[in-house]
Amino acid sequence: TAVQSNKVTIGLIPADGIGREVIPAARQVLESLPKSESSPRFDFIHLDAGFEHFQKHGVALPDETLARLRGECQGALFGAVSSPSHRVAGYSSPIVALRKHLDLYANVRPVTSVAGDGQKQLDMLIIRENTECLYIKQERIETDANGLKVAYADRKISEYASRRAGQMAFNMALMRDKLRANTPASQRLWQGKPKVTIVHKSNVLSVTDGLWRETVRSVKENNPAFAGVDMDEQLVDSMVYRMFREPEAFDVVVAPNLYGDIISDGAAALVGSLGLVPSANVGDNFVVGEPVHGSAPDIAGQQKANPIAAIRSAGLLLEHMGYSADAARIYQAVDSVLREGQIKTPDIGGKSTTQEVTDAVCKPGTPSP
Ligand code: ATP
Ligand code: MG
Repeated sequence: TAVQSNKVTIGLIPADGIGREVIPAARQVLESLPKSESSPRFDFIHLDAGFEHFQKHGVALPDETLARLRGECQGALFGAVSSPSHRVAGYSSPIVALRKHLDLYANVRPVTSVAGDGQKQLDMLIIRENTECLYIKQERIETDANGLKVAYADRKISEYASRRAGQMAFNMALMRDKLRANTPASQRLWQGKPKVTIVHKSNVLSVTDGLWRETVRSVKENNPAFAGVDMDEQLVDSMVYRMFREPEAFDVVVAPNLYGDIISDGAAALVGSLGLVPSANVGDNFVVGEPVHGSAPDIAGQQKANPIAAIRSAGLLLEHMGYSADAARIYQAVDSVLREGQIKTPDIGGKSTTQEVTDAVCKPGTPSP
């Protein structure tokens, strides 16, 4: 029945460092959403993972965490994981393992400024293919005739993965269009038809990036549902240049793994702090929201962490589970706190604590759409 279908179980995986402060903040915001007929009813389960867990128990992603995510949850929120600066025997990143086990093939990062805050105005969504490219880690080293080392890395681009990423991009362009319908016109940065920009370097890498480009293009060409979405493309170098000069020119941007990694950190710099930028790891059957920042050991445990990246990641999670009106409510509440500018954490020039910012976002009466 409709009532049952609104019940949503979310796995909370704070993991390391400030993950333990920002994930409870995101939970508080989800719990504070007004309860309407169409809104989800949340159940939360706490799940272990992370580097600290590895140090105590010898495993970074316990089997139980994975089993309960698969068996009981519709989505999850992941905090942050400390990455040891040197190789630690037996350790590998739990978020990388999660992406693989749950087939979360796209990393989705919205980078948005707040309308009217005097900063560069942008509202773009970067979709990074999450499974291949140079990240297949097929490296080898040889010695040349002069006894000098030569290192190689293979780069994999498949039609299968490129098509999935492309479909995600066009679907998201339509979803964002729907979400904008829930946003007051004065706060809408993107006014035009939805658009997907394909990033590549096929003038140099005509085989690999050529396949990527052709495959993503064919997603639109072969699907009438995407007729209302514009499509253009940018070589990755000019993409970076244009993104810094004219970020308002982009709506959805889709890129192979490595280019996507680089341009999304660049885009985060345009909006001020890592503490503001959310992401979601998305597959066909599961979503894991995850702030872009790391575990920030320098400020962990001091109530200095900006919870907004995690709170917006909870919004993304809802969006991908089909609750776009509730997601819009979260984005609106965050934007209004940022626009008022009184309550903010030190990374964006304020003195407030993690808890104070969270309470401000939850405050009833914060304008809803
Ligand atoms: P990790 O190994 O987990 O990536 P890190 O030291 O690289 O840890 P990051 O989380 O990547 O730390 O953060 C880089 C810088 O940005 C740090 O100085 C950190 O304090 C700051 N920072 C990151 N996230 C936040 C946040 N949510 N609020 C405030 N400052 C943050
Ligand atoms: Mg880091």
